[in-house]
Amino acid sequence: MASNGALDARERGALLGRLATERFDVLVVGGGVTGAGTALDAASRGLRVALVEARDLASGTSSRSSKLIHGGLRYLEQFDFKLVYEALRERDLLVSKLAPHLVKPVSFLYPLYKKVVERPYVGAGLVLYDSMEGTRRPVPRHRHLTARGALRRAPALSPDRLAGAMLYYDAQVDDARHTLTVARTAAAHRAVIGTRLSAVGLLRSADGERVTGARVRDEETGRVLEVSADTVVICAGVWTDLVHELAGVQAGYKVRMSKGVHVVVPRAAVDSDTGMILRTEKSVLFFIPWGEYWIVGTTDTDFSGDPAEPVASEEDIEYILAAANRVLARPLTRADVIAVYAGLRPLVDAATGNGGKQNGAKPTTKLSREHVVDVPVPGLASIAGGKFTTYRLMARDVIDAVVPAIGREVPGSVTDQVPLLGADGLAAVQPAAGRLAEDYGVSRAAVEHLLGRYGTLATEVLDLIRSDAGLGQPLAPGYPYLRAEVAYAVVCEGALHVEDVLVRRTRLFIESADSGVSAAADTAAIMGRLLGWSRRRRAAETRRYLDLVQAERATPAVSSVPAPGLALAAAR
Ligand SMILES: Cc1cc2nc3c(=O)[nH]c(=O)nc-3n(C[C@H](O)[C@H](O)[C@H](O)COP(=O)(O)OP(=O)(O)OC[C@H]3O[C@@H](n4cnc5c(N)ncnc54)[C@H](O)[C@@H]3O)c2cc1C
Repeated sequence: MASNGALDARERGALLGRLATERFDVLVVGGGVTGAGTALDAASRGLRVALVEARDLASGTSSRSSKLIHGGLRYLEQFDFKLVYEALRERDLLVSKLAPHLVKPVSFLYPLYKKVVERPYVGAGLVLYDSMEGTRRPVPRHRHLTARGALRRAPALSPDRLAGAMLYYDAQVDDARHTLTVARTAAAHRAVIGTRLSAVGLLRSADGERVTGARVRDEETGRVLEVSADTVVICAGVWTDLVHELAGVQAGYKVRMSKGVHVVVPRAAVDSDTGMILRTEKSVLFFIPWGEYWIVGTTDTDFSGDPAEPVASEEDIEYILAAANRVLARPLTRADVIAVYAGLRPLVDAATGNGGKQNGAKPTTKLSREHVVDVPVPGLASIAGGKFTTYRLMARDVIDAVVPAIGREVPGSVTDQVPLLGADGLAAVQPAAGRLAEDYGVSRAAVEHLLGRYGTLATEVLDLIRSDAGLGQPLAPGYPYLRAEVAYAVVCEGALHVEDVLVRRTRLFIESADSGVSAAADTAAIMGRLLGWSRRRRAAETRRYLDLVQAERATPAVSSVPAPGLALAAAR
């Protein structure tokens, strides 16, 4: 019964028709990892599910995280044992069974500077961390390193005061791709998934007592449609309070936004064969290996602006560079920074729960990362907080909370047994990379790149190349993405605009020094052929992307980096 869950952007008319005419058991508002996970949880229990996302899948926090699937070593210090325990179990399930093509083990070196006090303290923490794993142990246990051993793994470290190190393992993921894959897996279980569709109001029963669906605005046309559902589940992350307000409901909690910034630097700027984690005054700083780059971050500061536009400040970037440079032999400078991105953590402030009285006293670093589910009126539930890592448990909990409103027997969550699309059969496809390369006439590196992003669905991308060899060419010289991935993003991954492809389906926006600008016109051309765009529309779509990049560059973030091709691409 499960299909390949294609989200075909060419079928938008049919999608809108289904939303307007069918009746759903559950309507999910928000297409971040929580909403996508909720749609999958409900659909895999046999429910009729629709999901509406105001912009693009993962366009909120779920494409702007540190991209770690982890227990969170630092939460042990806050005695958040339950969170760490659950998150480690989820990590292991994702690495070993649910998404081995997307969630991969990664090592972190923790340098020690106070031998006598630090090693026993950090060592004990890591023993506890490792002991909370399940029996499957898909990632190795931690190890102790001498100072010399640490420098062998990470020659970038300054030897000054270095007393040794610990090496431990967690996992990492392309957060946007994972969220998309969860949404597609939900679609494979018959969920109807629509993007650029904003919930703008709730439908109520005649007596006003129950929520019976939502009014949804198509952001492409401005048209408003009504979607009927037994229950509406709000998974709107940092927009949760706004959605509660527009729905006219008083929820039992408030969401506090905490901004986190990362900088991206080339791999060659930091000589290390392992990720690193450093203690900072308030929290920790990660060096996370990311293909040919390092992602370095993050910050944790209160934020109160427009949730759609979190922007890194000069101060954020200086903070990250200064924290990194405390341990590096060759300091990072602004010239090393090729991209900067900011995201907002949707933290539930326990102090504002039940009545929503704001208590701004507690710093956001100290707020729990646990999640909260609320059912403020019959037919409506909302969930917020949590972590990317625990999205599956969040989804389970919120669907459990709405089951009574559905009025018939609904089985328990089964998502711990539902591998994401691309995971099934991976073990047999990975060794076949060489044969696939020969069969499809592409390089082995290209096949490995596709397997690492699509798992077994890589053959669907390769099939596009078989029918049009031009799609086997790189999208941007020097980067691994293929033109076929743009076409695939349209026909199977719901991409409606150039931004969707360059920012989230691929990650050229954060990986290339020109933020993907030189690939924008070609991307618009490939998308336009499939979506029937006129020349004028292709130019407008290209311009729209360039405007987005220019708006980002207007921030202090990457102003020192020239944008080659900006004018060229705009002119095409
Ligand atoms: C800097 C940073 C680093 C992080 N690092 C990690 C990490 O390494 N590991 C980890 O486990 N967690 C991490 N997190 C936390 C994690 O990223 C978030 O908890 C998670 O992504 C939140 O997902 P979400 O779906 O709840 O919210 P979002 O991804 O923001 O999704 C909410 C969606 O709702 C949509 N929406 C809003 N209003 C409407 C409406 N009216 N109609 C329709 N749609 C609407 C939005 O457009 C948005 O796409 C990090 C967070 C940050 C900020």
